[in-house]
Amino acid sequence: MKLVNLKDSTDTATFAQAVKRGLGKNQGLYFPTNIPVLKNIDKVLAMPFVERSSFILSTLLEEELADTISEIVQQAFTFPAPVVELNDKISILELFHGPTLAFKDFGGRFMAQCLSRLTNNEPVTILTATSGDTGAAVAHAFHGLENINVVILFPKGKISPLQEKLFTTLGDNIHTVAIEGDFDACQKLVKTAFDDPDVREGLHLNSANSINISRLLAQVCYYFEALSQIPAEKRDQLVVSVPSGNFGNLTAGIIAKAMGLPVKRFIAATNVNDTVPRYLQSGTWEPKTTVATISNAMDVSQPNNWPRIEALIEKGYVEKSILHGYCVDEDYTQIALRQLAHQGYTSEPHAAVAYRALINNLGEGETGLFLGTAHPAKFRETVENVLGQPISLPQALSDVATKDSLAGTLPSDYEALKQHMLGLLKP
Ligand SMILES: *Cc1c(COP(=O)(O)O)cnc(C)c1O
Repeated sequence: MKLVNLKDSTDTATFAQAVKRGLGKNQGLYFPTNIPVLKNIDKVLAMPFVERSSFILSTLLEEELADTISEIVQQAFTFPAPVVELNDKISILELFHGPTLAFKDFGGRFMAQCLSRLTNNEPVTILTATSGDTGAAVAHAFHGLENINVVILFPKGKISPLQEKLFTTLGDNIHTVAIEGDFDACQKLVKTAFDDPDVREGLHLNSANSINISRLLAQVCYYFEALSQIPAEKRDQLVVSVPSGNFGNLTAGIIAKAMGLPVKRFIAATNVNDTVPRYLQSGTWEPKTTVATISNAMDVSQPNNWPRIEALIEKGYVEKSILHGYCVDEDYTQIALRQLAHQGYTSEPHAAVAYRALINNLGEGETGLFLGTAHPAKFRETVENVLGQPISLPQALSDVATKDSLAGTLPSDYEALKQHMLGLLKP
């Protein structure tokens, strides 16, 4: 697979290089120079999930990792992605059956398996800041892998205790640090570390964040898995609604369509952080200050994957008309959660945003699929408040609830973090 930096066409990379670098020069995103169109889609859709995913990924990667791709996929995709029908018009794709109960398990686990095979026995340090789901997915995905250390920063006291336990109780090669500051402070510390050669080169830093190409490619696979579960006669009238923050998930969906996925169109569903829906309406890119919402994994006003979607359209892989933006405010997110509960389906705020956008957008003769990006128990307080009834914890969460956090605490100060990391990890 060949990739090119969207900000500098002289900066190219193989898949292996792009996975290790994350971002290219000038913070540019890597983008495939060619997206293959799959032949005989019906046959592809008829394959089992793991086998089909290996096939799709090997088509994208060409000769890279050819010997190990099926082993990688087998170790990464160890849980299903079922489509659940709510009524004859609307279904949900449940992406939260992985170890940390969010769709980020797919990308995180695939990236971890790729990276562990691409490091050539050189130790790598993953440094990442999290406000919840990413940290948990990354921690679980890399836990116990040789030659890879993980340092996760999170804002002290600002993540739900249960979320925090999902990644601070693992130990071994997973080092977690509560920072006395907010999420932005954590992100700033990560940026400073990447700008510091002592740490960047000394510890071979990698960020594992959502711009990493490996995470996107993994996500392409579950769109095909969804379609394989939709009756053939409904496929070409299917509208897919994606709850979006940094727009990695939607980028993967549009790549899948470019490869021949038989869906009609997509909805970019956001909460009130609606830079993209406004942009699709007006043609001007006007990010506002980020607002906190109950769908907090989508509280992003400058989505970092957007240039890739723009490139997919500009390069002619898909028509611009297949993408509609839709913003759902807090009141309607809660109304959607209750509407879903009335149909016997307990959901959570992110999926509720996608559901609301979908039912308001669906045209004559179309059927709809929205993505369930997290298990409702991960947003237990909100869901219980809105629905006025208790919800039960799945095993993965009740297991960690009683364990002790192993996280250290540091002030929001780069020198302190640097000393901590070098002390911990320098060979
Ligand atoms: C990360 C996340 C999103 C947003 O996904 P993007 O790929 O950043 O658009 C939506 N829902 C949940 C639960 C998430 O964790």
